[in-house]
Formats: sequence, structure tokens, C-alpha cells
Amino acid sequence: MKKEIIIIGGGIVGSTAAYYLSKSPDLSIRLVDEGIGTATRAAAGIICPWMAQKKNKDWYRLTSSGAGFYRQLMADLRADGINDLPFQVTGTIGLKSRKDLIEKVEKIALDRREDAPVIGQIQQLEKEELLDYLPLLKDEFFGLHLEGGGRVDGGKLLDILHQQFLENGGQIFRQKVGLKDEQTVLVGQEEWTADHILLTAGAWLPDLLGPIGYQVDVRPQKGQLFELDTHFDTENWPVCMPYGEIDILPFSQGRIIVGATHEDDMGYDLELDPDKIQAMRDRSQEFMPQLADFPIARTRIGTRAYTSTYSPFYGQVADQNHLWVTSGLGSTGLTNGPYIGWQIAMEILGKETNFDRTAYTPDNYITKVKN
Ligand SMILES: Cc1cc2nc3c(=O)[nH]c(=O)nc-3n(C[C@H](O)[C@H](O)[C@H](O)COP(=O)(O)OP(=O)(O)OC[C@H]3O[C@@H](n4cnc5c(N)ncnc54)[C@H](O)[C@@H]3O)c2cc1C
Repeated sequence: MKKEIIIIGGGIVGSTAAYYLSKSPDLSIRLVDEGIGTATRAAAGIICPWMAQKKNKDWYRLTSSGAGFYRQLMADLRADGINDLPFQVTGTIGLKSRKDLIEKVEKIALDRREDAPVIGQIQQLEKEELLDYLPLLKDEFFGLHLEGGGRVDGGKLLDILHQQFLENGGQIFRQKVGLKDEQTVLVGQEEWTADHILLTAGAWLPDLLGPIGYQVDVRPQKGQLFELDTHFDTENWPVCMPYGEIDILPFSQGRIIVGATHEDDMGYDLELDPDKIQAMRDRSQEFMPQLADFPIARTRIGTRAYTSTYSPFYGQVADQNHLWVTSGLGSTGLTNGPYIGWQIAMEILGKETNFDRTAYTPDNYITKVKN
């Protein structure tokens, strides 16, 4: 008899796990996704953790490995016959107002390259050299170019993973579900049980586990961004990471994404805030004045999940070997999410991942408070 798997949450983690699990003929898999506020579909798409000045070593180890894992995920999708891939290595440029600040980031990246050769060439760029890469930039910044940085279209990646999952025999249900207990999912009037239940519900994990007696250290953060449709040939432009909150991501066919906000006091709100969008628009024009010539074509809003340590967690709930959870991926979950989903899938399949996940145990974030 086939083993039963239920996955609750079809963002990047749940969908990657579903994709890899569905390659096994011995499993019957149901993926349930409400699809509201999905961070993965709202995300900007930067895959470049190597310039970050965060001191959190656990976060870095996971997220750098996650950025590297994109090459494997794309190779696996290509082997499945997908040619129009959603991830491109375009390079990434960090900007600073002073040369000494760029030298500091360069040192960080050079140190990291010893363990992460995927970073590729690291090059300081003078003001004029920057314009060769990003012609819309004002000529007053200093830059650092990392060859191995890239961009991903999160929505497109989800669509591809879902399609492959369906082709492999998986089933997708578009609705909200709850838990009756650790072994039982409530789907309307029905009760579903399974050999493994994966809770990959992003910022909504507390809503799932709270009613069955768990306290979860996860809070929501609202993120908004906007897109412009320009007439520039942006196909090969690198991702631009200016200082401050915003990033500027050229995608193909002139599409440029500017984002994102990090709003801690808005709960699960998904209303567009025109003032916040305007503030990002003004800020982006301080770096690329010509962006003012284009009206906003689209906006996106999603909910990120944060833990109190700003680190993600994943694995089994204590004493519940068949209940898997993950959350807290924060603002870099598009980078490390596929790797987390793959690891969960490999463990369920009994395969080696060669990655020590002890530092990311859910035990530090999930407590059973009542039976
Ligand atoms: C504006 C913005 C910009 C970002 N930019 C980047 C970036 O450039 N680079 C980067 O690495 N990361 C970025 N991130 C972060 C990244 O998008 C997230 O960390 C990551 O996508 C989280 O994935 P997830 O699978 O954990 O959750 P999600 O993608 O949020 O998916 C969770 C899913 O679970 C579903 N769900 C929840 N509860 C239930 C239930 N009870 N029943 C059924 N379904 C349920 C939800 O509807 C949702 O579809 C950004 C995020 C935002 C919001």
C-alpha cells in the first residue's frame, strides 16, 4: 500500500517538498493550499545572501546553501523537460555611497567564497563601470558585483512545481484546512489522516497549531512591492541592491520590480498602502531617476513569517515523528525555502541530505502548552 502524505501550505517550502516527494511511486500525496497572502508569490526574487552583514551564522549557513541549491533544482526541472526556467544567474550589484564601505562588503564576500565557490567572481565597480551593468543608475555610487547572484520569479516557480507535482500523480486542493490533532486534518466536514503531515503554512503556522494546544514563536510581517513595465532591454541586467530598504530587480522584457516594505505592526493585513508604495517609488528614483517615467503596472502584497531569533526552523515536532513543521523564513525564504523543502522530502524518503539541521530544530520555537 502507498504511504499517505498531506502537505498544508503550497508556498515555496511545501511545493518543493511536494515536487521531490512526488517523484517516488510509493507515495500518495495531497497538497492543500488556501493561497491567500502567499509570501512566495509576493516576493521580489533576490537570490544572493553573500553580501548580508548579519552575524547570524546559522542563518547564513542555511541560506548560502539554499542559494547554491537553486542550481540543482533548476537542473532537476530541466531534466523533467522544463526549458523556460524561473531562476537566472544574472549577477548582483551591491551599492554604497563610499568606497571604504564597498571594501568592507568585498572582504565579507571574499571570506565567504572559500566555502561558497558559487559566488563566482567578485569585482569592485567604479562609478562609470557601474553604468555598463545598470545604465539607469546615477553616476554617484560605488558598487560590488557578485557573479553568482541571481533572481527568481517565485510565482512562476510555484506554478512549475505544482504542474510537475500534478503530472507525477499528486493532488492539489485549494482551500483552508485545520487540525483536529497531530494525526488528523480537518477538511470541511471530512477528517484526513496520513503517515506524514507537513505543516508548511508560512506565517499561518500558529493558526494551525494553536487550536491543538501549541504555542508557536512566529509573527507575521507585511511586505509590499511594485512593478514597472519599461522599454529597456533588461534581460541581462543584474539585481541591484542599493543601501536602505529597497532593492531594484530587472526581469526580462523590461519588467522592473522595486521592493519591499517590512511592516511589523500590520498583522496579516493585505491592503495596498499607496503612501508606502509612493515612498519606495521616491527612494528608487534617488538611484535611477528614469524610473519616474513609468507608471506602476502591478503591486504585490504578502505576509512573511519571523521568529524571535530571526532564524527559520524545520523538522519534526517533539515526540511527533510524523508531524513536520517549518516557518520563520523571514525576508530570505525564497532563497532557503527550496532547500528546506528538499531536505524534508529527502528525510521522509530515507535519503541522506549531508546537512546538519540540528541548529534549526522546531523545539526552540514550538511548545505544547495544553493537551
Ligand atoms: C514582499 C516580499 C518580498 C520578498 N522578497 C524576497 C526576496 O527577494 N528573496 C528571498 O529570498 N525572499 C523574499 N521574501 C521572503 C519569501 O518570500 C518567504 O520567506 C517565503 O516565500 C516563505 O515561503 P513559505 O513556503 O514558508 O510560505 P508562503 O509562501 O507564505 O506559503 C504558505 C502557504 O500556506 C497557505 N496556508 C496557510 N495556512 C493554511 C491553511 N490552514 N490551510 C491551507 N493553506 C494554508 C497560505 O495560503 C500560503 O499559500 C519576500 C517576501 C515578501 C512578502
